[in-house]
Amino acid sequence: MSGFFSERLNGLCPYVPGEQPKRGEYIKLNTNENPYYPSRYAADGIDGVFLRGLRLYSDPDCEELRGAIAEYYGVPSRCVMPTNGSDEALAFCFAAFGDRGAVFPDVTYGFYKVFAELFGVPYTELPLRADFTVDMDGYLNVGRAVVLANPNAQTGIYLSLDDIERIVASNADNVVIIDEAYIDFGGQSAVGLTRKYNNLVVVQTFSKSRSLAGARVGFAIADEELIADLQRIRFSFNPYNVNRVSAAVAVGAIRDRRYFAECIDKIKSTRARLVGELGRLGYAVLPSLANFVLAKSPKINGKKLYETLKASGILVRHFSDARINGFVRITVGTDEQTDALIKALEIAENTL
Ligand code: PMP
Repeated sequence: MSGFFSERLNGLCPYVPGEQPKRGEYIKLNTNENPYYPSRYAADGIDGVFLRGLRLYSDPDCEELRGAIAEYYGVPSRCVMPTNGSDEALAFCFAAFGDRGAVFPDVTYGFYKVFAELFGVPYTELPLRADFTVDMDGYLNVGRAVVLANPNAQTGIYLSLDDIERIVASNADNVVIIDEAYIDFGGQSAVGLTRKYNNLVVVQTFSKSRSLAGARVGFAIADEELIADLQRIRFSFNPYNVNRVSAAVAVGAIRDRRYFAECIDKIKSTRARLVGELGRLGYAVLPSLANFVLAKSPKINGKKLYETLKASGILVRHFSDARINGFVRITVGTDEQTDALIKALEIAENTL
């Protein structure tokens, strides 16, 4: 540390992203990316004229992308705010709505804790039940902001829309942030509830279901006053947060409903096959509605399994947190990648 670093942030522990190998030598099942290419319409309109336009700043109102997202979800444009990845939308939520503190599960997306620390938001981690489901009692009438990933990160477990509504309704004096990074893989979005409740922010991303992790596009949908609050933070940080190239590819992707549905169908069917094969090998697998599964070998510990798979050219994610360190998190890839994974697991189970 330089000696110039902020004293207030002295204890800050940054988020550690999953490995991004510089060369493509791995079957990459570690960061929940989509194995399929983005929509071919994503690059529509990115020609010489478009590129010459890059000398100008992007539209600070991000009107076209906002309109495309609004149209997709049937909400007014003023209720949508595109961001530079959904991480940015989440960060803005912590900055805007964190004064009274926040609660989130003990096993969830690791960035919530980091944002809370960065923005000085006091937080409480509420333990998931032994089966990793959310204990609803902890989230009703909390008196603080609530942050929930649905399906939950690391577990893939989904909370029903009725449960989400109960949480939102019982916390009328605080903001409830529902992070739907993985909602398109089988869950029901809470976006519709933003028309009914003025304390709900739904955050989504183009990184997973729309194959655009590298473009860094996310968004928040909420009541217009909440969006105005978030815009206030955005315009105090980076009004040009979504660059012209990313906005254009995101518009192309969200308008291509047919390709989106095809990719989702393929991922769901591969997920079912992966879960079946893992079960056959005796693995414990949490019930996932996301594009990943958290799975535990009957005999190899999580870290060893991660290392063994890496040595055989397959990257999965291992977390050292006590409650899930026996597991590995496996992204649902293509059928071919899944075949290779299962073969590697069979070898590992028979030799270790
Ligand atoms: N929320 C959850 C639960 C995630 O797993 C991720 C991806 N790591 C994000 C948000 C952030 O995604 P992005 O910034 O790529 O939109």
